[in-house]
Amino acid sequence: MGLNETGFTKQRKKLTIWLKISIFILAVVIVLGTVAGFAYWRYIYPTAEIMPGIFAVRTHNNGMPMGNFFLLEADDKYIAIDAGADKTETEKGLLKLGISADDVVAVLITHSHWDHVGSLDLFSNAVIYTGGTQHEIYPEKRHEIILNDEMIRIMGRLVQCFYTPGHTIDSVCYLVDGKYLFAGDLFVTTNDSPFEERYDKDWQLECREKMLELEDVEYIFTGHFGLFKDVEFFRRWF
Ligand SMILES: [Zn+2]
Repeated sequence: MGLNETGFTKQRKKLTIWLKISIFILAVVIVLGTVAGFAYWRYIYPTAEIMPGIFAVRTHNNGMPMGNFFLLEADDKYIAIDAGADKTETEKGLLKLGISADDVVAVLITHSHWDHVGSLDLFSNAVIYTGGTQHEIYPEKRHEIILNDEMIRIMGRLVQCFYTPGHTIDSVCYLVDGKYLFAGDLFVTTNDSPFEERYDKDWQLECREKMLELEDVEYIFTGHFGLFKDVEFFRRWF
């Protein structure tokens, strides 16, 4: 009888310890999950004014956040860099920011992958700008080509285009006002090309280097990794 009681107590103690460990692990998982979730929504793919006059809109793939496109204020109007993926989500994002798609006067397209141009039709007042290799892609739009190294002024903003193929054959970066570099997917690797048959890794790496050598760049905006304010860190990373 006495022995049985001791055995029962031991077993209960054991169970209690395991219960405590389980609760502790669960609590850690919940806390880490909440922090990661918050960071993911708030910092990695924000829909917000991320710098004075510069807005990010979260883009989605089947309801999952997966990147951003950007809007620059320019004389009471806006310049978009890329145009989002899913239209409904883009509309929601613009609504949240209080920005009307009709006030977007220009869309600078970094490359023609669907996740960067899927909502292009929403911006019916905008002139579409692309790098030199996309002549035929948007026949129904008002469309301007910016050549490699060319500098143009749009609503008071100075925009310079750099041809940076690799990720796709038509990829370009836009340097705005000499310090804001919109890099599209230059820093995204598509590996061994199931996704993009003309993916060229060497060309892409060469273009990355060229862009990271631009000395006056202070901010790098990426299609899928958000905004980098520490360009030195970014240079070390890539
Ligand atoms: Zn992309």
